[in-house]
Amino acid sequence: MLIVMKHGATEEQVRGVVRTIEEMGYRASPMPGAQRTSVGLVGNDGRVDESRLVGLEGVLRVIHVSQPYKQVSREWCPDDTIVELPNGVRIGGDDVVVMAGPCAVESREQILATARRVAAAGATVLRGGAFKPRTSPYSFQGLGEEGLRLLAEAREETGLAVVTEALDPEGVELVAAYADIIQIGARNMQNYSLLRAAGRAGKPVLLKRGMSATIKELLLAAEYIVVEGEPRVILCERGVRNFDNHARNLLDLTAIVTVQELSHLPIIGDPSHGTGSRAKVGPMARATVAAGADGVMVEVHPDPAAAVSDGAQSLAPDQFDALMRELRTIAEALGRRIATAPVAVRT
Ligand code: PEP
Ligand code: MN
Repeated sequence: MLIVMKHGATEEQVRGVVRTIEEMGYRASPMPGAQRTSVGLVGNDGRVDESRLVGLEGVLRVIHVSQPYKQVSREWCPDDTIVELPNGVRIGGDDVVVMAGPCAVESREQILATARRVAAAGATVLRGGAFKPRTSPYSFQGLGEEGLRLLAEAREETGLAVVTEALDPEGVELVAAYADIIQIGARNMQNYSLLRAAGRAGKPVLLKRGMSATIKELLLAAEYIVVEGEPRVILCERGVRNFDNHARNLLDLTAIVTVQELSHLPIIGDPSHGTGSRAKVGPMARATVAAGADGVMVEVHPDPAAAVSDGAQSLAPDQFDALMRELRTIAEALGRRIATAPVAVRT
């Protein structure tokens, strides 16, 4: 439920609404807007006595949020959420953000070489797993904290922001100590204790769509993070299971448009996991930007043939250079631009 204040309502009147909501046993979340302030009532169990709120001083009207996900819905907040990173990059506005890097951090040489190349090509966020959710327990599981240290070193040198995955609630704090964005992987989209822990970690969260999750389930998963106090959630379409095996997954581009209708959160696309093969990554990255996504995440490896994971879907640096040129043209055709990092590199 959303209590919309009149234009020019005083701070005292807003405080009065907050007090009343708290007296009723719910949480209040004041949201100053461009036109007027709204106060969200969090935790509505269907027993809220609306008449108590309608009559308060300064209240214009009360809106019932019809969707099961509340705070991430457009009804709750019509303006787009913009997530700003420490390097000045803004996700969710006019800019299209490119996140690139290897599937996994494998070595110092590998991650630094990749970071230098993707930064030079114009990416602004470095991806790379230090903790890897692998289908098989015998596959490479990641370098752990050493991988996080290497990502931080690459950030220091290049000015790229870092996105990397947290696998479990116990690991969130460690990942948050190094990352600029905590990634929640597709396999963990409905790991509710992990979502809650990520929502309390004080860092933006990149939430990937589960491989058989509906958009409603994705938005409800995002709601878990927001409810814990973290509004900076970026959604990611990374392909869903398909009845046909022509590609690893079915990259659902319509989901990008649907999410933008239903939610104010930014959404990016991942054509690497979405297709599973190098030849398809470029075309589907272009399609993702053309569909209006707020960014793309692409796997890049200095020597894809030698990659310990996802080599078949990783671009070589030269291929990534070419893709960046194409993405620039597409973004401009849509009146957008590829995000640049305005904050100078720390030396
Ligand atoms: C990844 O991005 O490293 C990853 C494991 O992807 P997903 O969770 O989408 O499978
Ligand atoms: Mn991967």
